[in-house]
Amino acid sequence: MGSMVQATDALMAYMSAIGARETAAQIRCREETAAHPAAIMQIAPEQGAVMAVLAKIMGARRYLEIGVFTGYSALSVAQALPTDGKVVALDISKEFTDLARRYWKDGGVEGKIELILGPAYDTLDKMIAGGAEPFDFVFIDADKPAYDGYYERALKLVRQGGLIAIDNMLFFGRVADPEANDDHTSAVKALNTKIHADPRVDMGLASVGDGLMLVVKR
Ligand code: SAH
Ligand code: CA
Repeated sequence: MGSMVQATDALMAYMSAIGARETAAQIRCREETAAHPAAIMQIAPEQGAVMAVLAKIMGARRYLEIGVFTGYSALSVAQALPTDGKVVALDISKEFTDLARRYWKDGGVEGKIELILGPAYDTLDKMIAGGAEPFDFVFIDADKPAYDGYYERALKLVRQGGLIAIDNMLFFGRVADPEANDDHTSAVKALNTKIHADPRVDMGLASVGDGLMLVVKR
């Protein structure tokens, strides 16, 4: 067996405190989102920090995010991009992303972020058809049954050598339960299996947060 650590409450609190250096805008976004009924959807601070480090080491300038919610992940990466860096952020909810905009403004990164509202498949298809400039880094974190379609579209939009990071790929541990066959778990399992055998990419599943699948386009 491998050596994935047991996530106790104390260890998770430690991770949140020591695993990331948050800016005031990130702290505000996280603390205010904690009261939201869907707060569980937000990535953890250490995941934001890991994604920011990935963006830095690869010298990412263009970041595409599918699934914004109240803006924490986009904020984390936007802060790590150079001043002329660009985030294209896709979501379907005006209600959630109106909150996100506040934190982006707080963090001084609103000028780097273009938010496009609507079903992400439509937006992505338009970007592909319109010959969008390739992205260095794509983060997929929206509705799970649509994950395979997001992955295929992301492969078209990311540059060669670029990174696709896909969230919740351990799906609260349910991927290891052969009896978990709901739409969400099945979609995540199917995509993990597909990526594992996908000759188009190099891959590694990191156990940060709820499982972050990292894929580099060959
Ligand atoms: N990355 C965010 C969490 C995203 S939660 C963070 O770090 O906080 C998932 C988001 O996907 C929600 O905001 C939801 O509105 C959005 N979403 C769901 N279905 C969608 C669709 N079909 N197209 C675009 N966005 C969608
Ligand atoms: Ca998520």
